[in-house]
Parts: sequence; C-alpha cells; structure tokens
Amino acid sequence: MIKRTFLFFLAAAFTISFYSFVEDDATNDNRKQRVIKTIVIDPGHGGSDAGAKGQYSYEKDICLDVSLKLGKMIEKEFPDIKLLYTRTTDTYPALHARADYANNNKGDLFLCIHVNSAPSRRMSEIVGHKTVTYYTGKGKNRKKKTKQVPQYRYYTLPSNAKGTETYIWGAHKSEEKELAVRENAPMLAEENFEKNYGGIDPNSPEFIALSLLKTKQYFKRSATLAGYVQDEFVKVGRVDRDVKQRGVGIWVLQATAMPSVLIETGFISNPEEEKYLNSGEGQTELSECIIRALKKYIKWLEEKQEEDNKDEKEEKSKDTDRKATAAKTKEFLEMVEANEKKKQAK
Ligand SMILES: [Zn+2]
Repeated sequence: MIKRTFLFFLAAAFTISFYSFVEDDATNDNRKQRVIKTIVIDPGHGGSDAGAKGQYSYEKDICLDVSLKLGKMIEKEFPDIKLLYTRTTDTYPALHARADYANNNKGDLFLCIHVNSAPSRRMSEIVGHKTVTYYTGKGKNRKKKTKQVPQYRYYTLPSNAKGTETYIWGAHKSEEKELAVRENAPMLAEENFEKNYGGIDPNSPEFIALSLLKTKQYFKRSATLAGYVQDEFVKVGRVDRDVKQRGVGIWVLQATAMPSVLIETGFISNPEEEKYLNSGEGQTELSECIIRALKKYIKWLEEKQEEDNKDEKEEKSKDTDRKATAAKTKEFLEMVEANEKKKQAK
C-alpha cells in the first residue's frame, strides 16, 4: 500500500513539474502574471470552531474579515490571478477538505490567515493582614502568640504578548510533507493512474530527483514569502515575532502541494491588538502589508524563472557547442583516415 501511494505521489510531483514546464513555453511573452496563476486564501477556523477568544470578538470572524479584504485587494492589484477561498461564510470546512480544495484547483500559493492568543497572566496583591494565633513550647513553657499573615487578592491580566508571526511547514518535516502530498494530491486517483501516467517510470532516478526537488522548492518559496510578509509588518511598526517553523497544529500547510504560509496577524488576547484586528484600518493595514509582500514574492519568482531560463539556454548552447566540436572532431578524424587510406593505396 505504501509503495503504491508513493508511486502516486511521484506521479503527482511529476504532473506539477510537467504543468509548470508547459506553462513556461506557452507564456514566454506574458510571464509577469504567470508565475502565480491561482492563490487559495484560507480563513482560519469558522462555524462551530471559533478559534481564540478575545474580550469581545472571535478569531474566526477576524480571519474571515481580513481574508475577504485581502482577497479584494489581490483582485485589484493582480487581476490575472485566480483567487479562491476555502470559506467565505461562517462555516467550518475540515482541514483535509481545505487542503484537497487547494490541491484540486492547482493552487500556486496557499495563504492561511489566523489570529494568535496567549494565556492571561495570574497576578496577586496584598489587600490586608489577618491576625493568626499560634503556640510555642510544651507544658509550663507553652505560650500563646499571634502573628500577622498577609491576605492576597488574585486576579488575571491579559498577556503582554503582541505582534505577528508567520509559520511555514518545517524543513525537517519535508518527509512528512511528501507523505501528506501523496496522500492528498487529487490527481492520484487510482483508476486514472495507468491512463494518465502509464508511460512514465516512477522508479527512474530522474523522476525521483525531480519529485524531491519540487518539495524543496515549496519550502524555499514558502520561507521567502514568509520573510517578506514579516518585513512588511515591521515597516508599519508591528512587533516582529519572526518566521517560524512548526510541525504541530498546522496540518493544513503540510497537506498542500504548493508553497504555503500561515500568518498569525496579531494577538486577540491583547486588548490593544484585539481592537486593531477588529478595526477597518487595522485590517486594511494588514492586507496592504501582505499585498506588498506578494508583489516582492512575485518579482522574486520572475527573476528566478529568468535565471532558470538563462541557465537552460546556456546548457543548451553548451550542448550545441559540444555537439559541434564532436562533429568537427569526427570530420577531422575521418579526413585523416581518408588521407591515410589514400596514401596506403598509392
Ligand atoms: Zn488559529
């Protein structure tokens, strides 16, 4: 069973590579928009899963508001990018279904929008003293004494934690990502396997190398975008909690066969940030930061693509050179041989 699913994964990875290869050829003159064709936005939680709770709001609602606002801006800034949402209302699609949806629609980027939370701080203060009686000694020496014992009041304060962090699926977990990719990629349907990928030998070293390369590319791309997102948050004065790798709790990132990041937009447990996250200005600022990061990311992808194309061309011309040299050498040797024969014939 494992072997079989592994083959399917390889087929999926190959299909992805194959598609991007075809796309490269077809869009030579309209490359700008084509490095990303489809973005899937995933507003965290929803429905019966409210996510983290603030003093007056729920994470699920902020996630949806920010996602929809961000989506509108993406549509405006990048009209050629196809935009999809895992949810647009207060519902809870299973994580598995979210990943499947993104994979089925051949997303080029998966953006999860979340809100962070930290436990409140337990505080205490002395509100007075109580007189307590106690005894020392035994028999005749027994004495009655009193002492003052402080009385405390306990209360909680919201956590001080604030700022943004962006998660990517851990590099050390890339094997698990492969596992998830092969378990979830929709093109792996068994009946279609022979029909669609019959001619490919999934055991060939080239094929395996290509598949592993694809997984590494997801990581590099996710990490690059995550870095850009945090950079932009810093520029508008948000507290930077950095790009983090996490294995647990972000299942959805590992299951997507595409670069993916999870953005914790702020702390609902911090009253100041809860206000910011619920405000129109806050949500606009967050979305604008993500848009600027996206622009940088697209530019980076385009430059990478150009470099790759250049490398490819160089390789090709090197190849032509080699062939030309080989042909010339062959010609020369044949000429020498012919001359030798002529000499011998004389
Ligand atoms: Zn969340």
